Amino acid sequence: MSDTILAVDETALLERVQAPEGQGRPILDAATRAPLGRAPEHTVHDLDDAVARARAAQPGWDALGHEERRALLLAVADRIEAEAEPLARLLSREQGKPLNGPNARFEVGACSAWLRATAATPLDPEVVVDDGEVHAELHYRALGVVGAIGPWNWPLMISIWQIAPALRMGNTVVVKPSEYTPLSVLALLSVMNEVLPADVLIGVSGDREVGARLASHADVDKVMFTGSTATGRRIVEASAGNLARLTLELGGNDAGIVLPGADPAAIAQDLFWGAFINTGQTCAALKRLYVHDSVYDDVVDALAGVAAQMPMGPGLDESNVLGPLQNRQQFDIVARLVDDARSDGARVVTGGAPAEELGELFYPITLIADATDGQAVVDEEQFGPVLPIIRYTDVDDAVARANRLEQGLGASVWGDRDTARQVAARIQAGTVWINSHGGVHPMIPFGGVKGSGYGLEFGAEGLKAVSAPQVING
Ligand code: NAD
Repeated sequence: MSDTILAVDETALLERVQAPEGQGRPILDAATRAPLGRAPEHTVHDLDDAVARARAAQPGWDALGHEERRALLLAVADRIEAEAEPLARLLSREQGKPLNGPNARFEVGACSAWLRATAATPLDPEVVVDDGEVHAELHYRALGVVGAIGPWNWPLMISIWQIAPALRMGNTVVVKPSEYTPLSVLALLSVMNEVLPADVLIGVSGDREVGARLASHADVDKVMFTGSTATGRRIVEASAGNLARLTLELGGNDAGIVLPGADPAAIAQDLFWGAFINTGQTCAALKRLYVHDSVYDDVVDALAGVAAQMPMGPGLDESNVLGPLQNRQQFDIVARLVDDARSDGARVVTGGAPAEELGELFYPITLIADATDGQAVVDEEQFGPVLPIIRYTDVDDAVARANRLEQGLGASVWGDRDTARQVAARIQAGTVWINSHGGVHPMIPFGGVKGSGYGLEFGAEGLKAVSAPQVING
């Protein structure tokens, strides 16, 4: 019964944001490849207009003060909760992730949770010197206009990660969603804008050219970017012109190290979701698993056992917890990496060929045993349902291999906690999880090192990142 009602609600949300009939760019349902809607095609001129409006609205928004902005962020969280099911359904259809499992409903829930946590986070002025002669305080002021540029894998949650702290600190925000998932982001912004004052939060649905214009715009003070390392480099170059401050959350190729003595049966489920959350299309997912020789075969078997129990299929089917790749480009990357590993002598334990019976962009969970460093499936970010598993005999060697690539987003160590913490300290990554992988928390700073970018999101550090520090001395 509720299905009919929900379908109507989801259509209403879509109608609010999509381009008029006969206009816009077609967006397909990721699972069925049937037409889903029409993405508005905003131009660089529209972007300029959006930045000008956001600039004009910023002083008024800043003048509201923290208490009022906090109250508005909480009201926005309430509105998102009220629209959670249609938002999740639209997200599921456009992005592909199932409603259930750690997927679409989970992502929409995270949006309101992050808004609430961001509203609650204190950021008081700090007294930095007070010695009788000098009294100096560090305050955090608004920067102005923040440009938020996002990817297609967790489009709603990552947009909120960029928007919530920026708004909280008195900035206005112009959002440029990925061209693959614009409709669900525009729908989210439309729900948020039922509560927010005009022009405080503006979405511009355009291509890479529009993103490039936002990053280089003279009237943008800060760019929050989540996406690939290659695009991140272009944004750094653009910032030479406008001197915009940057937070860059870029690609990852997270290593996990399973220590001797680890219990394969006990860790298999968490290893699985660490690697395959959102069908592997996650920046800080486990993408290379180094397993000690003494437990190697048992870990591979235990992971294959978990994989066999996880249903994959269209996201709106309540029984599924794994979905399709979001787009053809990513599907082709995954297929190429698996074929390459197989022809290089790696052993495909499960999966290994497109799941054509499920639909055009479905690729099954693929575990690749006897993988080696240097193979493309290990060295390149798969961003899909593939996990190479590499055998090692010496922990120092495993650490060196974990550190050998350009990326440094996340990593994990599995086994005895004290030993694992010592190993963790030697890994070059922004976060090292012990006996889990990929969990994020609104109060725990998150960010990468090396090729995975710079700057922190979440908690007080995240608020500072969208603020202009000002010293009051005297
Ligand atoms: P992408 O870099 O191709 O695109 C990201 C966004 O940048 C899109 O909105 C795109 O339109 C825009 N863009 C493209 N060229 C631009 C330019 N020159 N200037 C400004 N904007 C431009 O990335 P993607 O394929 O959408 O996302 C996948 C990548 O994102 C993966 O590498 C993944 O690891 C990474 N990612 C990182 C995190 C993190 O938190 N570190 C989170 C999610 C995804």
